[in-house]
Amino acid sequence: MKFFSTNKKSPPVPFLEAMRNGLAPDGGLYMPETIPSLPESFWKSLKNLSFSEIACEMARPFLEDETDDDELKKVMGDAFNFPLNLHPVGSQIQILELFHGPTLAFKDFGARFMARLFSAKAQKENREVTILVATSGDTGSAVAHGFYKVPGVQVCLLYPAGKVSRLQEQQMATLGENITTLEVDGVFDDCQSLVKQAFVDEKLNNYMQLSSANSINIARLLPQSFYYAFAVAELQRQGISKEPVFSVPSGNFGNLTGGILAMKMGMPADRFIAATNVNDVVTEFLSGSEFSPRHSIQTISNAMDVGNPSNFVRIKALFNHSDKAIRRQIKGFSYDDDTTRQSIRDVYKNHDYLICPHTAIGYRAAAEYIHQNNVSNPVISLATAHPVKFRDVIEPETDSKIDVPERLEKWLKRKKRSIPIGNGYEEFKEFLMSR
Ligand SMILES: *Cc1c(COP(=O)(O)O)cnc(C)c1O
Repeated sequence: MKFFSTNKKSPPVPFLEAMRNGLAPDGGLYMPETIPSLPESFWKSLKNLSFSEIACEMARPFLEDETDDDELKKVMGDAFNFPLNLHPVGSQIQILELFHGPTLAFKDFGARFMARLFSAKAQKENREVTILVATSGDTGSAVAHGFYKVPGVQVCLLYPAGKVSRLQEQQMATLGENITTLEVDGVFDDCQSLVKQAFVDEKLNNYMQLSSANSINIARLLPQSFYYAFAVAELQRQGISKEPVFSVPSGNFGNLTGGILAMKMGMPADRFIAATNVNDVVTEFLSGSEFSPRHSIQTISNAMDVGNPSNFVRIKALFNHSDKAIRRQIKGFSYDDDTTRQSIRDVYKNHDYLICPHTAIGYRAAAEYIHQNNVSNPVISLATAHPVKFRDVIEPETDSKIDVPERLEKWLKRKKRSIPIGNGYEEFKEFLMSR
């Protein structure tokens, strides 16, 4: 299978090349030329399969020219060595807990899959790659941990100074070894823009082999389709066959795009809910306006503070550029910080369950969608981060004390090693060239 660039000016390439390139040379994002549909018998018998079996089946059509089944199985087994589960909240909504990986956020799925695949290939080919990642927090720690000490790979992370939580910063900026962190004087969009400029800079690309690992990378996107199917498998195990609605807390829209991909492969899904904070350009589009990117606004759900969501072009491609089809399949909701806090309080009070601010937005959207549309479908609401990562927000709202697991506590004690840098491209380029 080949992958085309959404800008249509670069040639289609196989999966591993798309993974290494990150962004296509023409600045577009890679997408599969065709969406493989898996047989009905697969979707009907998900309940008999484990997560890693589901993952292998879904990945195979994209990767079969480049890996064999044994390698794929090993990658899946190594990458997804942590649990995931549904937690019922009330009678209709179930929370899909995606935060049991090493950095306690759903980004571990994409980052670990990609790192394992990279490592499998780098060991065979013997050439060094530098991975550039712009992060608003969770991507950075997931990627840093996924690639830590992986041979043949250097990682350079850029994050906005002062705009990530202390724990996020400690998790990514204290590792050292093959992980370098740059603290950028600016916002997430500045970091993203620096990385994008580097990828289209011919001189720099001739000088070093660059690759990306943020949510634009096709190897991050693919595994984000697996857990949607896993949720359907869990519903089947509960004896529920009605098509679910998925509510997805969204920023750069990689997570939601993974869900749409699964649906296009044949996974039963009634509808998707795009839940955002006040950075609501997609929500606005879904309600009938133009798509008009703007600067991001800082919120308490900071991993979703994205003003120009990169993956929107992929959603367009998946729906053959039919705005009407997109608006039929995806419903948008957005909430401010006060409503987010209210949602955290409600769920704690009514269900004795703590959720992070991102998850709270997704949950609120799910509840409101059910209420407005009087639907009877099961609703899967994605939990994107462990509440402990946002205890500064959650504890005062719920009057509770969240214990910090020992494996997190140890990060808080480590020495920060990040390098401060301005938001101009030349300075960043010079830094890369000087290494
Ligand atoms: C990254 C992130 C999101 C947003 O995911 P996208 O794929 O960028 O839409 C939501 N919640 C948390 C906790 C995240 O880390």
